[in-house]
Amino acid sequence: MLETNSIVDIRATVVQTIHINSAVSIITLDCPAIAAVAKPGNFVNVKVNDATLPLLRRPFSIHNVRGGLIDIMVKSIGHGTSLFCDTETGSTVLVLGPLGNCFDITSREFSTAILVSGGIGTAPMLFLERTLAAKGTPVINFIGGRTKEELLARDLSNCLFATDDGSAGYRGTVIELLESEMTGLEKKGTLKVFACGPNPMLKALAGFCREHHLACDVSLESVMGCGIGICYGCSVEVKSPDGGLRSILLCQEGPVIDAELLAV
Ligand SMILES: Cc1cc2nc3c(=O)[nH]c(=O)nc-3n(C[C@H](O)[C@H](O)[C@H](O)COP(=O)(O)OP(=O)(O)OC[C@H]3O[C@@H](n4cnc5c(N)ncnc54)[C@H](O)[C@@H]3O)c2cc1C
Repeated sequence: MLETNSIVDIRATVVQTIHINSAVSIITLDCPAIAAVAKPGNFVNVKVNDATLPLLRRPFSIHNVRGGLIDIMVKSIGHGTSLFCDTETGSTVLVLGPLGNCFDITSREFSTAILVSGGIGTAPMLFLERTLAAKGTPVINFIGGRTKEELLARDLSNCLFATDDGSAGYRGTVIELLESEMTGLEKKGTLKVFACGPNPMLKALAGFCREHHLACDVSLESVMGCGIGICYGCSVEVKSPDGGLRSILLCQEGPVIDAELLAV
């Protein structure tokens, strides 16, 4: 659940913008107050310019933390993200965060972390990988995309790739790739899966993890407005204990949830 006492709303300077391909940029923001308390899986809600439109902020995972800096990996899919991808060094943006909960890397024992991501869902994995590595936990990345241009593995280590068109790595989905590696993975002790990507991928992964008795945290996406539980814009349906469905606000009870809440 959100720890509201550490949330700040600050005007942050853009210290670097790197275009890593035609649609994706990494924006580095000088945000010591957020960097000091952020955890892997948290997100920030950014007003991408000072104009009236786009009116609402846009949510982005924290891609990495480096001292007082935070990196955001942004894929241009619409008005707000295309403006943010082209943000110039030296300009400033309003940043609210850190928001949301985080990947649970402490409550249950596991010896190897399996990080499964697809497309821009790879964004939160660098911060997670670095945090796990600092604890001495081995990490294996399974990264999927439609084509090799969509694989966003920059700076990640120990990566296996899957592409729909076979242009890099395994031809097929990242879950099929994971399945093909399970015999070897099961020899690595207790596994825990951490995932982020398109919601249909996460739903399929939830079913896979249930079948294989694997603990799994998934970071979901939804359209989001305020990021702090006021606008009710990010309502998503998950399984309720009685077997039916219940609505949660992703900004309050997520974006990370136990995959069991998605498994069918
Ligand atoms: C918790 C969280 C973390 C996120 N982390 C990242 C990240 O690290 N990097 C990143 O690039 N993106 C991330 N996103 C998605 C990002 O917030 C959206 O792509 C962005 O808000 C779209 O804004 P826009 O103005 O460009 O799109 P708009 O012009 O508003 O919309 C363009 C199209 O995209 C659709 N759309 C809008 N928001 C979303 C969404 N959240 N998911 C899917 N489709 C959407 C719209 O319905 C529309 O069809 C995250 C979203 C959430 C909820």
